[in-house]
Amino acid sequence: MDVWSHARWRIELPPGHKFPISKYGLLVERVSGLVSVLESEPVPWEWLALVHEEALLERIRLGQMSIREQRGLGLPWSELLVERGRRSVGGTVAASRRALSLGIGMNLGGGTHHAGRDFARGYCLFNDVAVTLARLRVEGLAQRALVVDCDVHQGDGTAQILGPDPDAFTLSLHGARNYPFQRIPSDLDLDLPSGTGDDEYLAELDRALDEALDAGPFDVAFFLAGADPWEGDRLGRLSLTKPGLRLRDELVLARLRGIPTVVVLAGGYAPDPRDTVDINVATLESVLAAARALS
Ligand SMILES: [Zn+2]
Repeated sequence: MDVWSHARWRIELPPGHKFPISKYGLLVERVSGLVSVLESEPVPWEWLALVHEEALLERIRLGQMSIREQRGLGLPWSELLVERGRRSVGGTVAASRRALSLGIGMNLGGGTHHAGRDFARGYCLFNDVAVTLARLRVEGLAQRALVVDCDVHQGDGTAQILGPDPDAFTLSLHGARNYPFQRIPSDLDLDLPSGTGDDEYLAELDRALDEALDAGPFDVAFFLAGADPWEGDRLGRLSLTKPGLRLRDELVLARLRGIPTVVVLAGGYAPDPRDTVDINVATLESVLAAARALS
């Protein structure tokens, strides 16, 4: 199976920076025997403009983001950061094309759900899912979409862009006390109490998927398989175990069966990035099992 990665466009960060840049390369090393990892292409600026405000794109392109904007983004601006961001979106577009032709696709990146129409924040420069959906619509490949956002942080950027869209349903399951502290409502938000464990989480997720799927039918689904609901995550506050996260992935993929599904990585901030990568590898294994069942 082909999957996509932008890991080679690795930005330099100051020592001690919280963004786990190393996880992307470690993941590619771990999975290269299981799948063929292709390099994500950068999307054209016109595709980004299907979703993002021109003025924001101009500031990003020219390196004119304000100090406040860069602080909100949490990453220092560089040409490489912009190139990497465009390729991260490109991986999700490529994975969506595979999903539409073969049933499922995966980007070993993306899930940048805090990027909105007119803001880039929370390590998210562009909203890969929203841009991909907009592009699929332009090409006449899909119209109605479901977003299942299981990153532990609420998907505020996706909610801003797709919440008012009658042909998109956004579901976000997240820690109630996590970033972002000012929410933009999704179609369905589940605010989970700190310390929520596997059983409660899986039961809530199953119920939420009932409601989300009732809003169908959908031409395409996006699954943000964040690794940050893990009990050891630094930014998480939830208490899922690694086997619990594997069950989460299996549950989502089973419930989305019959809908072309695009799986993206989203967050993961384990003190040792190898723990985040373990969770990402398990997600890929669930994707491979789903792909085998389809063929
Ligand atoms: Zn997150």
